[in-house]
Amino acid sequence: MLPEQIKKFIAVFEKLPSIGPRQATRLAFRLINSGKEKIRSIKEAVDGLDKVKLCSRCFFVHTNSGSLCSLCSDASRDNDVYMVVEKETDLISIERTGSFHGRYLIIGELTRSGALEVWQKARLTTLKNTITKNNKGKAKEIILALNPTTYGDLNASLLAKTLADYATNITRLGRGIPTGGEIEFSDIDTLSSSITRRQ
Ligand SMILES: [Zn+2]
Repeated sequence: MLPEQIKKFIAVFEKLPSIGPRQATRLAFRLINSGKEKIRSIKEAVDGLDKVKLCSRCFFVHTNSGSLCSLCSDASRDNDVYMVVEKETDLISIERTGSFHGRYLIIGELTRSGALEVWQKARLTTLKNTITKNNKGKAKEIILALNPTTYGDLNASLLAKTLADYATNITRLGRGIPTGGEIEFSDIDTLSSSITRRQ
């Protein structure tokens, strides 16, 4: 009943996070009804994502000519303090507070079991290598900026063990964020004070 083009659109979009087959179908019809110009602008926006690269050190996005993002290539940032975050959106929230001036590592979304994927282990190795190279094997501090949830606590204690030899202090964000809350959805003041009052 449906044209192949719509079926193909649904097959791709229904697999995206928080979009199921029903939303993908509705989206397809909404786009078709919004006209060719709108479809063309979405096509260009999606196509542009193809040019975005991941930083070879912290794994944040960039479009620089080298392999490092703007944060990692910023010489004015503190080289002795590293912050491990789960998601790009967490990094953006923390940057917005202006309370952190160190370096980052995006570890990727963690699981309830605390088991890391192969690519996440590789990212940890990258952090260890960076610390070996830039901090003679031991940074002043690694902040584990994970959400204050049960799985966040579990993952933080596992990461703390793995990184124990690589920093004098391993800390977590202060308990400003409500227990069970998420970094991404915290307001700037709360997040800023949880960075200042890290423990
Ligand atoms: Zn970077």
